[in-house]
Amino acid sequence: MTKTRKCKYCDQNAIIRLAYANLSLCKKHFIEFYEKRIKKMIEKYKIKGEVMVAVSGGKDSMALLHALNKISNEAGIDVIAYHIDLGIGKYSEESKKIVLEFAKRIGVLLIVSDIKNDLGFTIPEIIKYSNKPPCAVCGIVKRWLINRVAYDLGIKYVATGHNIDDVSTMYLKALLTQDIYSLSRGQYEHMDPMPEIKMVGRIRPQFYLSERENRLYTILNDIPVVDIECPLGKRAVIHKYKVAWDTLLRINPVGQINLTKTMIKITKNLRETERELRQCSRCGFPTESDRLCAFCRLVSRFKSWKKE
Ligand code: SF4
Ligand code: ZN
Ligand code: ZN
Repeated sequence: MTKTRKCKYCDQNAIIRLAYANLSLCKKHFIEFYEKRIKKMIEKYKIKGEVMVAVSGGKDSMALLHALNKISNEAGIDVIAYHIDLGIGKYSEESKKIVLEFAKRIGVLLIVSDIKNDLGFTIPEIIKYSNKPPCAVCGIVKRWLINRVAYDLGIKYVATGHNIDDVSTMYLKALLTQDIYSLSRGQYEHMDPMPEIKMVGRIRPQFYLSERENRLYTILNDIPVVDIECPLGKRAVIHKYKVAWDTLLRINPVGQINLTKTMIKITKNLRETERELRQCSRCGFPTESDRLCAFCRLVSRFKSWKKE
């Protein structure tokens, strides 16, 4: 017989057990706990004013948009949603539809970029001109566009929906594949704006929250989530590494958080010495490279191939 757990803060039955925090919570107290974590992060880094939330339509970013909007008055921030239509067939159509409906429902201003109109190509078109995996190419395009749009609008901070499963899995994969480059770049919860190189500040308020918590938050708040999987992401190797956590977390529930915190400490000095950002000689936005940024290199390959 399984014993029903009680909420740590009231006499209701718990609906979730968070082993990493040794907490069992009912619906009301889980929502409170979740939003408090997001608010604490905003306060910790003293974020104020306009925050642009990059929303894909997935559970993480939709939960983030809802939570940031809910705490916005108390936290002193103004939330603007931003969505990119990547041109990935039905997946993109469905994502755009639910983001538009949801932003309207919660009364948040939404900006949408259509990359076919804005940049002249869709993700399925541009990936053919690179030997990088589709998600890496898509990431380059999204990062560049999010930064440019926010910079042009004079917004100081962009918030994205990275969670502890993403972050810790990236570290795990990098360690197991001797990927020193990714390790030295590290992962961040917060990055200050650098206007001198046209870089908007970045925050990841769900850095220490899990996919499971984000999913439950969307369910409890009736937040719609795109139910079509991106067809280009299915083969991404990172998903295979994520499975390892099912076993590791049973042995050590704080494993993901501990690995992430340890790696951040170890790589802190590496990041400071190796990560020197400058302006791309073509677009003027930030890059680690001496000349062109990854986005401009991608676009120039696309243009030169098209001419042939
Ligand atoms: Fe882009 Fe990969 Fe996400 Fe698809 S799964 S939207 S290709 S990052
Ligand atoms: Zn309770
Ligand atoms: Zn560039």
